[in-house]
Amino acid sequence: MEHEIIRINENSWRIEDGGVRFFLLTGTEKALLIDSGMMVNNAKEIAEKLTCLPIVLLNTHADRDHTGSNREFEAFYMHPDEEENYRKDGLGGQILPVHEGDVLDLGDRPLEIIHVPGHTPGSIALLDRNARVLISGDSVQDGHIFMFGPFRNMENYIKSLEHLKAWDGCYDEVWPSHGSLPVSPDMVGKLIEGAKEVLAGKVPGEKQEFHGMTTTLYDLGYAGFLYDK
Ligand SMILES: [Zn+2]
Repeated sequence: MEHEIIRINENSWRIEDGGVRFFLLTGTEKALLIDSGMMVNNAKEIAEKLTCLPIVLLNTHADRDHTGSNREFEAFYMHPDEEENYRKDGLGGQILPVHEGDVLDLGDRPLEIIHVPGHTPGSIALLDRNARVLISGDSVQDGHIFMFGPFRNMENYIKSLEHLKAWDGCYDEVWPSHGSLPVSPDMVGKLIEGAKEVLAGKVPGEKQEFHGMTTTLYDLGYAGFLYDK
């Protein structure tokens, strides 16, 4: 499937890439790719057609649907807790570590890093405070959130979303990597409740085959978790 480029506003694009999306944001000095796609292996080349600014890359996390074009970059921003997930199949490149509270400034466009471990250990969200947008990676979305297999931790996920509540009121829209865009900020609270209900055994599960693995879908109606206890 061919990728699709959609301009969100004057300085933001989303690139839909077969079930996942990545973003290009521009400031006055540089451009930031947020993730590098799944099917595409030329995210940088795609971005270069949209902006003349120098392009840097940040990964919200290292699942393979977010790192398709990382090879195009010698170095990229990533939370250091994601390194094991990133390197597991021998992917190279230099990780430029970002931590909670760090600010990446694209030039009149500061983006604040928020660490939200759970989906993966080094998952991060970015707050574009001036635009009042939270870019959430896979952690806040209305699709099926992968919480099965290595590197996932449901308890940490709940803690992270509770931590994210500290930024309530700072953003009006959530831009996730999967599912609808935008998603309403109240999804954070709904996912906390839903995840707690799943852990408490209150949500019926349905067996699912996924990439040759069997897991369980807990469908909440507004989103779902693929999870195994
Ligand atoms: Zn993903």
